[in-house]
Amino acid sequence: MKKCCLCILLLLLFCGCASTVTETNFFAMDTIMNVKVWGDGGQRACQAVQDRITDLDQTLSVTRADSAVAQLNANGHGELPQEAVDLLEETLALTERTNGALDPTVYPIVKLWGFTTDAYQVPSASEIAQVLQTVGAGNITIDGREVTLANGAQIDFGAVAKGYAAQRSVELLQEQGVEAAVLSLSGNIQTYGTKPDGSDWEIAIRNPFDTDGVIATLFVSGTKAIVTSGSYERYFEEDGVRYHHIMDPKTGRPADSGLVSVTIVADNALLADGLSTALFVMGTERALDFWRESSDFETILIAEDGTVYVTEGLAEQVECEVFQVVSR
Ligand code: AMP
Ligand code: MG
Repeated sequence: MKKCCLCILLLLLFCGCASTVTETNFFAMDTIMNVKVWGDGGQRACQAVQDRITDLDQTLSVTRADSAVAQLNANGHGELPQEAVDLLEETLALTERTNGALDPTVYPIVKLWGFTTDAYQVPSASEIAQVLQTVGAGNITIDGREVTLANGAQIDFGAVAKGYAAQRSVELLQEQGVEAAVLSLSGNIQTYGTKPDGSDWEIAIRNPFDTDGVIATLFVSGTKAIVTSGSYERYFEEDGVRYHHIMDPKTGRPADSGLVSVTIVADNALLADGLSTALFVMGTERALDFWRESSDFETILIAEDGTVYVTEGLAEQVECEVFQVVSR
């Protein structure tokens, strides 16, 4: 009898310690999103994150004709909600910082190659040259909430929207007093807080050469953004050549930088998302120089020859068969 009571007590203690986990999946920003929350209030927190991201998608989408950004693109000028203006300003700051490798005005090029409509095509050199004339952050003027696009420029937040959504979600989770959570927004992973068992977050980095497999595992603690841009994510093939969705705003073509995957680890998810795209465009050498000049992120680069470069701040946190540690 005594033994039985002890067992029940231990079971109760165990149940009392085990934190509940609430999980939700939904479709937004052209992808399936997954949110997992530990602790009380998980249902409410999941719903709040889903509502917030769905709202953002309605404002930022370039393919929904009624979104504020689609209307701006169609009319060349218009008023954006304040948070879209803030996102545009933060994106343009990254355009400057990355010397134009990240550029929201690349959208007409993305369209020309068919990436928004799935009507893929390899455009002619003259078509590219013509559309390139509309590209350039200098074509954007912001006056309060009024935005004007000159020279037929159009904008797209595809490279940063999920990062921005993750950043806003972190604020929501803080407001809701959530214990721990993890968001998986396609290539964007956002960890939040510490899991009840105190273990690290384990993040799998997809193998770009075999996308069903994992090339490396990353261990992080606390609240972090882990964002990957890869040429395997969206592409089409013509005459045996693969054309992917990350454009070099200087050439108007898919970035041929020698990289196939870029992962950024940072405290800020918008920064991580913007830089994952920008460093992909830069290629290994420029990307590593850029990292050496910076102090707000770490990176894992995978080159098309299979070399995995890991910056020194992550060296102890990565499990990967073979990799090169990059120092400052
Ligand atoms: P990501 O997956 O975060 O690297 O973002 C890629 C998406 O951003 C593409 O599908 C395009 O919509 C857009 N994009 C492609 N190239 C660029 C670029 N150089 N700068 C800004 N946005 C881009
Ligand atoms: Mg990005």
